[in-house]
Amino acid sequence: MNDPEIILQTRQLNKRYGKRLAVRDLDLEVRRGDIYGFLGPNGAGKSTTIRMVLSLITPTSGSVQLFGTEVNGNRGALARVGGLVERPDFYLYLSAMKNMEIVSALYGAVDKKRIMEVLDIVGLADRARDRVKAYSHGMKQRLGIAQALVANPELLILDEPTNGLDPQGMKEVRELILRLNRDHGMTVFLSSHLLHEIEQVATRMCILHHGTLVVQGSVRELLNRERTAVRIHAEPLEEAFVLLQGMDWIADISRHDDHIACTMAEADLARTNTALVNAGTAVSSFSPRRSLEDYFLGITEQKEEVSE
Ligand code: ADP
Repeated sequence: MNDPEIILQTRQLNKRYGKRLAVRDLDLEVRRGDIYGFLGPNGAGKSTTIRMVLSLITPTSGSVQLFGTEVNGNRGALARVGGLVERPDFYLYLSAMKNMEIVSALYGAVDKKRIMEVLDIVGLADRARDRVKAYSHGMKQRLGIAQALVANPELLILDEPTNGLDPQGMKEVRELILRLNRDHGMTVFLSSHLLHEIEQVATRMCILHHGTLVVQGSVRELLNRERTAVRIHAEPLEEAFVLLQGMDWIADISRHDDHIACTMAEADLARTNTALVNAGTAVSSFSPRRSLEDYFLGITEQKEEVSE
């Protein structure tokens, strides 16, 4: 099989704001067909990266390639990308259709058929004549995505598309992203500060922390669904530690001040807990978390991202 085509690639990308290095030495790779999840806590540098990819701001150093060509001033490559980077602005007293026509005019000719097509894709065709003022936040978000779709991009870039939406609105945007990818062959790059949001849609992902890429790969591999990290609080801790060391299905075991950390297969969780209790240790908590989740929570539990 041929290697998948890399349609977005950054190399040693940096952005400095005064003393603050918001993005450092970033190497991203997005392949055609991916739903790529760009995960990181607030302030990690996600928006800054997306703005550089879309040529809205200039990198301090490094390169961005789209479809194999350097993006720097390359209008041709950018024309193949649709982006939604901020909460979209609309003429609230005009219909969705009219708003779409105004945006389409920026691309040249207004193609009403295409506009209806994209409104249909985002599930707003039957509300096309309504004023945007009457739209829910989720509908406005989908209208924003419709605007990014008018020119039929190969790559769609969405910065925190579900931010601020209620659960129903989030679900609709997630379903739309999946549909665009599956039925319209679109590659989607989306950012989020919530692992949960990414893991429900993404095929590949990375984690950004303090502007640095900490891990990148397939969601299935990274979330390693077979192996679970477990944190155990038990009394006496030393006794529990010795017992756990004797269980050959347990790995990565370490003793901390007030708990033990280890990994095991999900299927072994119950028998481990039972064995500890049967041996007379008092287990006060037994908390399984997948290892990436454990790691990401560790990052987000830290205070605000700080500059150096
Ligand atoms: P994220 O999108 O992951 O929340 P951002 O890219 O918005 O992160 O921000 C990354 C860092 O860069 C933050 O520390 C932020 O305060 C800083 N930053 C972003 N934009 C600017 C700017 N225009 N001027 C100065 N600092 C900025």
